[in-house]
Amino acid sequence: MSSTEAPATHLAENPFAIAQRQLAHVGETFGIDPNLVGVLAECKKCVEVSVPVVMDDQSVEVFEAYRVTHNMTRGPAKGGIRYHPAVTRDEVKALAMWMTWKCALMGLPFGGAKGGVVCNPKELSPGELERLTRRYTTEIINEIGPEKDIPAPDVGTDSQVMAWIFDTYSMNVGHSVLGVVTGKPLSVGGSLGRDEATARGALYSIRTALQKQGARLPDNRIAIQGFGNVGRNLARLLSEEGARIVAVSDSRGGVANPYGIDVQAAIAYKQEHGVLEGLPGADAITNAELIELDCDVLAPCALEQVITAQNAARIRARMICEGANGPTTPGADEILEDRGVLVLPDVLANAGGVVVSYFEWVQGLQEYFWKEYEVNAKLNDITVRAFEETWQTRERFGTSMRVAAYGLAVQRVAEATTIRGLYP
Ligand code: NAD
Repeated sequence: MSSTEAPATHLAENPFAIAQRQLAHVGETFGIDPNLVGVLAECKKCVEVSVPVVMDDQSVEVFEAYRVTHNMTRGPAKGGIRYHPAVTRDEVKALAMWMTWKCALMGLPFGGAKGGVVCNPKELSPGELERLTRRYTTEIINEIGPEKDIPAPDVGTDSQVMAWIFDTYSMNVGHSVLGVVTGKPLSVGGSLGRDEATARGALYSIRTALQKQGARLPDNRIAIQGFGNVGRNLARLLSEEGARIVAVSDSRGGVANPYGIDVQAAIAYKQEHGVLEGLPGADAITNAELIELDCDVLAPCALEQVITAQNAARIRARMICEGANGPTTPGADEILEDRGVLVLPDVLANAGGVVVSYFEWVQGLQEYFWKEYEVNAKLNDITVRAFEETWQTRERFGTSMRVAAYGLAVQRVAEATTIRGLYP
């Protein structure tokens, strides 16, 4: 698990209001029944719980936590759990809605959900983290399940946290339930390829986009914000493909080198020192400078709202790959679209994680596990298909990639809702 320190105010705009505005815009562009848009603009269920935890010094701390289900029309809800000191209910609701669109765009039989615990996992001991996770799981145990709502890792959580969720749920029902959570360690039913799946999906999206422009990865300079599961793996995979990584960063700041950063050395340095700052052979830069750096592809892989109407005009990248969820505000989107910057939206660019989570769920239900090359090949098929569908929709409707991707997704959910009918 990597650093999650961030300013308490990383959300300048209400993310759920942004998600609702995006939906309204898509509804108008694609002529979707306003009644359906009204249904989809709200979350099906938002559970708020308090999580009391005995700390190592025997004091008791009570943490605020959420599990939100946005929609379950196309199947069980799916979405990560975030441990972060600045998580808010509306942030979790927005992330849950974006999960619905992501699963629909990728053609997965899932709806959308998300969870959050307001805590700083970096300040908790392993014992405190385990007790918090087990109590949180118990508090939401009636909400989750392999046919209901299946959590996964997100910012501040990792495969160890998923293992505790799996164990807590299984102990309560009296037998092992592999399908209750994804992103598990391999030793307890995880999938090969899941750890790097989000980054691998982003790699496939960038590669397909470059092919459309007649370009190749080795000719591209890439700046990556965030050096956790998504950012670190993306930097490694891209550099293995010959791309030049010109900047990387974590919550403390970044490092840059126009001639290229040795990514393996950066990973080792971060592991040893806990920060990227001070990496030999690279200059220090701030996260704000990284966003505006001279590069070909910019990949925000940390938190929301880092590309805004304030800095969008100064971005020099020709392409943005949203490894993070919601890194670009609607104001920034308009500026980038006008300037011809190609934005590969979150629901497409970081969907590799949920696609391989789907594979993990399927393998767990069947208790039959696939080889890594099978996982990666199937991920590539699904990502490239979704990319092509989005690209064609963008050309047909003359929209941005985001509006095209959300449009396809919302239409699929709307169609399923219409066919099922509104109960009762
Ligand atoms: P992580 O906790 O593993 O890593 C987060 C990284 O962001 C860390 O390097 C941290 O130092 C950095 N960071 C935190 N605050 C920052 C700030 N203010 N400025 C710059 N860097 C900052 O989390 P992750 O799993 O890599 O998730 C990152 C993003 O990707 C999130 O938006 C998440 O929702 C999204 N995502 C993750 C997955 C997944 O499978 N893990 C899947 C889809 C989308």
